[in-house]
Amino acid sequence: SEFVKEEFSRGTLRSKTVEDILTPLKDCFMLPSSAALDFSTMSEIMQSGYTRVPIYEEERSNIVEILYVKDLALVDPDDCTPMTTITKFYNHPLHFVFNDTKLDAMLEEFKKGNSHMAIVQKVNNEGEGDPFYEVLGLVTLEDVIEEIIKSEILDE
Ligand code: ADP
Repeated sequence: SEFVKEEFSRGTLRSKTVEDILTPLKDCFMLPSSAALDFSTMSEIMQSGYTRVPIYEEERSNIVEILYVKDLALVDPDDCTPMTTITKFYNHPLHFVFNDTKLDAMLEEFKKGNSHMAIVQKVNNEGEGDPFYEVLGLVTLEDVIEEIIKSEILDE
């Protein structure tokens, strides 16, 4: 019945976490903040097909900003504009969430905010040293919606 179906997707949203559905860091299309927006970089961004590109400093685990492809509308590749000129100008907020965030809470966060992407991090206290934040990947509204739809189809 509709009721059972609804409860089933709610169950998925309550029990699954962002860690279960994220795009792992190694698969994320990202660019360094040291990049210049020349022809080659801009082509690479266009060819990636993504609408948002996390920008990191030094290491891929150190995401500091986010570039929206639409920010490039007025950028002339001949100017070789530094990446940071554009990211500092638009200054889109960067959202971090913990790996154990449940999908229902994540959905609420996405509904509240205007950014539909979050960087997933966890507290890593496995080693000898002090605990540190480890970036696991990224999650978008699309990933959450896909999970809801999947659970509804499985239930058919
Ligand atoms: P887009 O609008 O760029 O297609 P979506 O929010 O629709 O992004 O997400 C589609 C899928 O792509 C999701 O699985 C999401 O985790 C992933 N994704 C989004 N941006 C990136 C990126 N920069 N690199 C790798 N995967 C990404």
